[in-house]
Amino acid sequence: MDVKEWMKQVIKPAEIEKYLINGEDFINEESIFGNLEKYKNPDPGQVRDILQKSLDIKLLSPEETAVLLNVEDPALLEEMREAALAVKKKVYDNRIVFFAPIYCSNPCVNRCVYCGFRSDNSAERRRILTMDEVRHEAEAVIDEGHKRVIAVYGEHPLSGADYIAETMRTIYATKRETPSGKGFNMIRRININAAPMCIEDLRKLWRAGIGTFQVFQETYHHGRYAELHPGNTIKGNYRWRLYAMHRAMDAGIDDVAIGALFGLYDWRFEVMGLVAHAHDLERQFGIGPHTISFPRMQPALGSFVSENSPYLVRDDAFKRLVTVLRLAVPYTGLIVTARENAALRREIINYGCTQTDASSKIGIGAYAEKQQQEENPDKVQFTLGDERSLDTVIRELAEDGHITSFCTAGYRCGRTGDKIMNLLEKGVEGKFCKLNAVLTFREYLDDYASPETRRVGERLIEKELKEIENTPFFTDKKLLPTFLTYYKRIASGERDLYM
Ligand code: SAM
Ligand code: SF4
Repeated sequence: MDVKEWMKQVIKPAEIEKYLINGEDFINEESIFGNLEKYKNPDPGQVRDILQKSLDIKLLSPEETAVLLNVEDPALLEEMREAALAVKKKVYDNRIVFFAPIYCSNPCVNRCVYCGFRSDNSAERRRILTMDEVRHEAEAVIDEGHKRVIAVYGEHPLSGADYIAETMRTIYATKRETPSGKGFNMIRRININAAPMCIEDLRKLWRAGIGTFQVFQETYHHGRYAELHPGNTIKGNYRWRLYAMHRAMDAGIDDVAIGALFGLYDWRFEVMGLVAHAHDLERQFGIGPHTISFPRMQPALGSFVSENSPYLVRDDAFKRLVTVLRLAVPYTGLIVTARENAALRREIINYGCTQTDASSKIGIGAYAEKQQQEENPDKVQFTLGDERSLDTVIRELAEDGHITSFCTAGYRCGRTGDKIMNLLEKGVEGKFCKLNAVLTFREYLDDYASPETRRVGERLIEKELKEIENTPFFTDKKLLPTFLTYYKRIASGERDLYM
């Protein structure tokens, strides 16, 4: 089918309208601006009451979020950061989950003005990986020690749901012997970042074993969205994108990931948009987003806006927005990516982030070709701020007391969607995850870690083991004997045992 004909059929109006309320979507700009104005100069007592609500792991209301976004006093901001870290500790403890992006295709029918993949960027070289090439990318990522990926695609008829499902099957089927010779490593969870789809296509991804489906709204502001996404493109339809996650839920995918591209519009507005999105998912499905991303726009090939937008977010504002998001949606994972530079990433992980990537390459086919981004500027979407290896980042975080987790057990044991949210809110999932973090960290240290990382890692794992042995939850629930048996079996060479 001709591309233009195909484009006309992608959007299914009925799969937008069913989620509207009285014909309106959930982004009420008047109310967002009103709340941001109304709660200026907040009273410290009111702020502390709100922090207590976050510490009780409750989703904040839009009004409460607006209060936190208006805090300017440095001492109060510091209290917020401490509360954010306490929230993370309560829900996720000291775990940090790692993943690697695999860029599978860059032909795209859209013209998002900030993106190197936009169709009118003739400097970009286009490529859709064959299944052999996808396998090579997966092999390279597995050989670094990764067990989770996020696969990324442009929007094009040649890289639609069937292609995405095929790449997923290819990645899941790729196995590599570990360098230590202790069995095999493979990707155990594939998350997908792709264009919004109809429910029928999303079911194909669900059947292929999708982990999380991720779509960023880019900007929640209707007018600004229209300026950045030409109206005659698929992406020009704001509401088709806004309800991508609602359709995913209807297709059976209950781990959904939202985000905004910070730098396109006012950062406070975008945080309010993300919180409104979480509320609408909870209201319509009883489940909030599994993760929230807050990528900052990076320079992209031939994109003026990507470097000159009037809304670019400075580091101090970026730290504040991460803190407020941690407090506003306390049960949700927060993802910081290698778009950020090493120092800032390290710092904001301490404000409550739970997932990050490392050793990332965002060129199409770039892992197998072992390219640095400066070698292929015409095949990457934008420029990365941190190209360090997985081993280096794991070591740095271990020195700060964070244990790396490659755990994928929750999803494979059916602890997803409302089940996982419930467990996270009660602090139970975090406990299981701690055990699985230690088991997968043991695998990593034995299979892939450099001698320096192993030294730091052994100290951390020792501390974790002591903590586990002294935690009543594990002893009361009789989980400890199973865990210790699994730990011993992994240390002597077995792989992929989880609780
Ligand atoms: N084409 C799909 C879509 O737009 O949803 C998925 C792939 S797209 C490459 C993934 C994300 O990259 C976009 O949602 C956008 O937020 C992000 N992105 C685009 N240009 C960027 C830039 N210059 N800097 C950082 N992130 C960017
Ligand atoms: Fe295409 Fe996505 Fe880039 Fe927009 S952000 S041009 S839809 S790849």
